[in-house]
Amino acid sequence: MQRAWEIASKSLIEEGWNLDVFERPLSWPFKPRPVTISKVRGTLFGVAIGDALGAPNEGKPRRRLLENPLSTLQPHNDRPAGTVTDDTDLTLALARSILATGTINPDDLVPRFIEASKNTVAGGWATEQAVSRLERRAAWWLAGTPSAGNGAAMRAAPVGLFFEDPAEIRSAAFLQAIITHRDRSAAASAIVNALFVGWLARGGPAAANALNWLAGAIDGLEVPLASRHQKRKHNTVAGLVREVADYVGEPEKAFEHFHTGAFVLETLPSALAVFLSYPEDPEKTLLTAAHAGDDTDTLASMVGGWLGAHLGDRKLRSRTPSNWWSVAAASEIEKISRLGT
Ligand SMILES: [Mg+2]
Repeated sequence: MQRAWEIASKSLIEEGWNLDVFERPLSWPFKPRPVTISKVRGTLFGVAIGDALGAPNEGKPRRRLLENPLSTLQPHNDRPAGTVTDDTDLTLALARSILATGTINPDDLVPRFIEASKNTVAGGWATEQAVSRLERRAAWWLAGTPSAGNGAAMRAAPVGLFFEDPAEIRSAAFLQAIITHRDRSAAASAIVNALFVGWLARGGPAAANALNWLAGAIDGLEVPLASRHQKRKHNTVAGLVREVADYVGEPEKAFEHFHTGAFVLETLPSALAVFLSYPEDPEKTLLTAAHAGDDTDTLASMVGGWLGAHLGDRKLRSRTPSNWWSVAAASEIEKISRLGT
């Protein structure tokens, strides 16, 4: 990763990015337990189940979803129930690359991103743009779309599972992010997703005290973004992650406050608020996320990853309907989980 890091950081610093945050030490504020196969499997299944559950609702307003709520996997995008989308496909592509190389190696990762993105259902705009530049052999450190969409964050869970040290998770999540999303807040939110998976998979508490630590890990990386929500106190991922503490137990209020679109300043804080509201009740949490409105598949997918990292696959399985586990990616997830531990 060292060589790739040097190339990317040189180019970004020349453009005025402040990467001092990566020099700051970072350690788990609890005694970490080893990541078990149950946590890996739980996380990846959680990502896929949230994705498949939320996908039929993608792009619809919350008010309409609540009039006719769903509780099982439904067909979507002219595909059968249980079909997963880009959230899962890119997560698994990243997982396979980390397991094959032991690191973030763009030479291995870029072809996997291209393949996953071309064969996926309902891909994201920024990733597709970057992939088309990468296919035309653009340099990976320059090809990313300058977009604060959630596409780099949604796939970051494997970084939290397969890298040990939190400072390394932070750098690895950043590096994989900029390949498609050359944007500070997009990268910051990928870091938060990966670190939170890492925190939960190692036995860190599923509680609001994680928020300050997560925000502290990215402080200084971002510049405030212009937002369509003028009343907001914060226009950085770091600021909004801290603000989530005010909405734990009240996900509906969080959705109204943070919104639930594909903009990282919306998806990530809303997802954190749902997860922290009922971390021991994955059925309720996933269904709440899948009815949040707008970018429901990504929101529910991130929430699903945290639930699996927190509970492990056995508890997650025993507390969710068994037919949710028939997601299309199931056999692939089994394979990766066995490789990863
Ligand atoms: Mg999707």
